[in-house]
Amino acid sequence: MGSHLMIEPCSRCRSNAVVHQPYSGQHLCGQHLASSVRKRSSRELRLQLELPKDARHEDGSPYRILVAVSGGKDSAVLLTMMSDIIGQRRDVDLIAGCIDEGIDGYRAPSLECARELAGRLGIRFETLSYVTMDFGRMDEVVAKIPVMGERHDEAKGLMSCSFCGVFRRQTLNTLAQRVGADVIALGHNLDDMAQSILMNLQKGEIDRSVRLAPHTQSPIDGIAPRIVPLRWIPEQEIHAHAIQSGLPFHHGECPHAPGAMRQQSRAVVAGMESQTPGARHGLLHSIDQIRGLHQKAYPKAKNEVNRCVECHEITSKDVCQACTMRQWLEEIS
Ligand code: SF4
Ligand SMILES: [Zn+2]
Ligand SMILES: [Zn+2]
Repeated sequence: MGSHLMIEPCSRCRSNAVVHQPYSGQHLCGQHLASSVRKRSSRELRLQLELPKDARHEDGSPYRILVAVSGGKDSAVLLTMMSDIIGQRRDVDLIAGCIDEGIDGYRAPSLECARELAGRLGIRFETLSYVTMDFGRMDEVVAKIPVMGERHDEAKGLMSCSFCGVFRRQTLNTLAQRVGADVIALGHNLDDMAQSILMNLQKGEIDRSVRLAPHTQSPIDGIAPRIVPLRWIPEQEIHAHAIQSGLPFHHGECPHAPGAMRQQSRAVVAGMESQTPGARHGLLHSIDQIRGLHQKAYPKAKNEVNRCVECHEITSKDVCQACTMRQWLEEIS
């Protein structure tokens, strides 16, 4: 946050700026921010999702995109943008999907924001809950974490978000299957991406890093690939744009977030960016290059598809992580 209160003029017109981009040296007003967000995200959407003129399947059904929405600003901008760019196409179907984790005081109001926005845009809205998936409510999962840690070595030290992340991926895959989605669009912004890259790299997890979305160049059999059209847009710009456009979104944070590894990473990325503007872009460019090299080094990196004996989801083990965790939870109830 700058300490000066003077409002700077937009670098492209004379209106008051709403954001400053230290990495580009520009100030942007609401209108020029909107056109810039649109330009960056539609270019990225085209790169990540190459749709033919007629994207319908052989049976005539439309190409389906499940847009994962949370009620927060990022997915609100994503859904609006997708609706603007491809919402009119008759060969493409957009569906908004919200996962209900079962978190008191957080999910109910944000889910309503998501539902409202989908309604405004005339987009079909679907939800799927952890309870329906037999994981139980996330609030109850959190209460059982200490006991699970005592009973299972593998569960030791796992935090709320470790469980929630596994459950969310599984729930989203199930929702995608249910609605027949060809691809899933996620609202990750530049900060989210930079944080994920840093977290994977600091744990030495190159494989995980190269598997980060977008997946359209290296799809895995049986899982709807993820696209992330907002990945080059900083969180602050998404936030300013969501407010400028009057999008309904929920401001609250998940009560289980504090203490998560992402919080540390968030602070590190913010610190890097303020010292070296452009650092977040640099992290993302680096991972794209590493991914390219990785694909060259392992051209047929066979996605040997192994399926969970319990749920048939893709996993490298006999029983997938989600089913393992579900088992731990069931032992306690
Ligand atoms: S902050 Fe963690 S527990 Fe809360 S919704 Fe996100 S992943 Fe789940
Ligand atoms: Zn302007
Ligand atoms: Zn399973």
